[in-house]
Amino acid sequence: MGKRTRNGKCHICGNVGELSSEHVPPKSAFNDKPIILKPFEGGKGKIQQRGMGDYTLCPSCNRLTSYWYVKSFANFCYMGMEILQSQMVILNLFTCTNFIL
Ligand SMILES: [Zn+2]
Repeated sequence: MGKRTRNGKCHICGNVGELSSEHVPPKSAFNDKPIILKPFEGGKGKIQQRGMGDYTLCPSCNRLTSYWYVKSFANFCYMGMEILQSQMVILNLFTCTNFIL
């Protein structure tokens, strides 16, 4: 994401001015690793070293939405990951059982 601020119109309050960098989904919801952003038309894509994100909110709206939603959303993602991991264990056991039989 390089530069941490840009100028534009906030997508929530509509104020024109400085926009801050925000992670989408939040950094704490498994979005803290480099990603490759590829266009639908194809092509090489662009690497974002700090995870997926953009500049769509002013710093005030970014802080408020982070305060309101990030912790709950991250908890939701962690619960989903635990379910997926437990299903992988069951799937691995099932696969091993079939292999032995
Ligand atoms: Zn705003």
